[in-house]
Amino acid sequence: MPTYTFRCATCGRTQDAIMSIRSYSEAPPTFVCCLAQMERFISVVPGLAVHNALASERHYDGLTATDGTPIDTRAKHRAYMRERGLTTIDDFTETWKREAQAREARIAGEDKTRASDIAQAIEQLGG
Ligand SMILES: [Zn+2]
Repeated sequence: MPTYTFRCATCGRTQDAIMSIRSYSEAPPTFVCCLAQMERFISVVPGLAVHNALASERHYDGLTATDGTPIDTRAKHRAYMRERGLTTIDDFTETWKREAQAREARIAGEDKTRASDIAQAIEQLGG
């Protein structure tokens, strides 16, 4: 079952709630700290894209694929996915990192094609 972490925006105290996705979606728990409702806290673990349900080895305990193949470790799960040409979210960590850098460079005006596109547009408008 997933762990939902809540954090106090004032003092930073965290509170975990371990519950099923169904229970959480039907009635998310509320915790109060420092006279305010604690907010859902999603931690970002360095080296992992996002702390997701399968980010920790213990989440793989007893896991089998729909065809019965045991995928009870991260390594087995990844091998299973690779053999079948399937993908997991963490296959895109590097892609997203590259895209984020490209996006930042583009916003900062470091994209050469952007400058030439603008120059070309100005030329077309002028001519
Ligand atoms: Zn607090």
